Amino acid sequence: MTNSAITPHEAALLKTMQRYWGYDSFRPLQREAMAAVMDGRDSVVVLPTGGGKSLCFQAPAVAMGGMALVVSPLISLMKDQVDTLRSAGVSAAYLNSTLSTDERREVMEQIRGEQLKLLYVAPERLLLDGTLSMLAQANVSLAAIDEAHCISSWGHDFRPEYRGLARLKEVFPHIGVHAYTATATEAVRDDIARQLGLADAEMLVGSFDRLNLIYRVRSAAGRMGQIQRVIEQHRGESGIVYCISRKEVEKTAAALVGLGVKAKPYHAGLTDEDRKRHQDDFLNDRAEVIVATVAFGMGIDKPDVRFVVHAGMPKSLENYQQEAGRAGRDGLPSDCLLLYSRGDAALWKRIIESSADPGVGDGSADSLDGALRALDGMSGYCGGVSCRHKQLVEHFGQPFSHNNCGACDVCLGELDLVDDALLLAQKIVSCVARLEQRYGADHTTKVLAGSTEERVLQLGHDRLSTYGLLKDQRTGDIRDWVEQLVSQGFLLKAGEYGVLHITESGRQLLKGEAEPKLLRASAAGSDKPAGRNRA
Ligand code: ADP
Ligand code: ZN
Repeated sequence: MTNSAITPHEAALLKTMQRYWGYDSFRPLQREAMAAVMDGRDSVVVLPTGGGKSLCFQAPAVAMGGMALVVSPLISLMKDQVDTLRSAGVSAAYLNSTLSTDERREVMEQIRGEQLKLLYVAPERLLLDGTLSMLAQANVSLAAIDEAHCISSWGHDFRPEYRGLARLKEVFPHIGVHAYTATATEAVRDDIARQLGLADAEMLVGSFDRLNLIYRVRSAAGRMGQIQRVIEQHRGESGIVYCISRKEVEKTAAALVGLGVKAKPYHAGLTDEDRKRHQDDFLNDRAEVIVATVAFGMGIDKPDVRFVVHAGMPKSLENYQQEAGRAGRDGLPSDCLLLYSRGDAALWKRIIESSADPGVGDGSADSLDGALRALDGMSGYCGGVSCRHKQLVEHFGQPFSHNNCGACDVCLGELDLVDDALLLAQKIVSCVARLEQRYGADHTTKVLAGSTEERVLQLGHDRLSTYGLLKDQRTGDIRDWVEQLVSQGFLLKAGEYGVLHITESGRQLLKGEAEPKLLRASAAGSDKPAGRNRA
């Protein structure tokens, strides 16, 4: 890129970035995103975690007159963000439920005195009539909405209180409203703009390709041993281990401490104080490993996280991309290992359906459907046998051009593939045909394995020609292969019960015109080194 076309706005921004942050260039897309802010054009900006979203509104906020409103759901992190800005010399404050009456009064004074460049505010606080009418009197320069996917029930983290942000455009008709998120498919992107009532918003989507991250997926067999190996390969470096439940976090952290690893647990069940201390220990390298639930990481900015292990499957590719994306923010090679077992999807399904999970939003049919679809996408990734980078990048609606990324287990040739995959796959698909495409994966597996369970016998499925056709194989393997054939598009799961159907490519497979890949999953994981470091 040439510098010949530097606009006066850009010059002012570069000066601001240099003066307050010590940066002398834009990261990809920051230039465009900041131009939209300076010009007052509404925008939706999608950049991966670590892409530098905050600066997209912070630098313009400083360079422009007036005060920027920053809406963020992360109450626990507002203070840190504001402290960081202040220590850089930018006058900033926040308004949320943690402030005392006196503190709130002081912030109001600063707003009235036009002393602030940025005001962070939680959505529920912003939408109080008192707050809005007070801000309507202030000289507001722009509105920035962080974690903007929270407004869409199509996203993975719908928060009903975000819906009220549509009022921003009514109260402040003349300022630009800007939405920022790390995770948005095209549908979510459009939904964000629609829900916020943005006028002809500029859509800026950064590259999701994080080729410094080496993705691997393994069966969770021998879980602790696999986690331990990754940590050993990264001795003296920082890493995160994500677990699904608090109990798993505690168990895993304790086991690691027992092995002499400086590990700290982090989950919503700890006191604020413990959470904060463990987070600080990790950020300041007093702890090497943080073992955490999804509660950890939003807004965490540690550039040298060298590995992220998922001890269980996340509930969506959005979550996975965000959590794994906390590795290697400095651009250096980093390992992302996902350990999964089929039980994980079932566990998530129970959590989602009981709506005990706040990430599912308001529990409406819409968000429930979305959550279950997202879960299927995640399972598909785990059972997938095509390049992990390609799967992720394409999920986020971008084309992927590499033939061999050189940075995932598939492209590195580490998958333990079955030799006679076509024949095995034909047996499975024939069984689906014999069952008249009326049963799900579990039942189909039982018939193939020659189960003598009552239901199989009652239905007379022991008399089918495909009964017991795979009785020499492990039942767990057969069940995994069914998923893998689904994720490769030879079979399709339909309806609430996941009834298996044969697709067009499935029919070609029966004719021998396809190249399915099947993993020897139960054997994988225990005997191969996990998280081999390329650096
Ligand atoms: P995001 O919110 O997109 O996850 P952040 O805003 O936290 O990302 O930025 C990630 C890191 O990159 C931070 O350490 C930030 O200070 C740094 N950063 C952002 N923009 C620049 C830039 N133009 N030059 C150098 N470092 C930058
Ligand atoms: Zn690859």
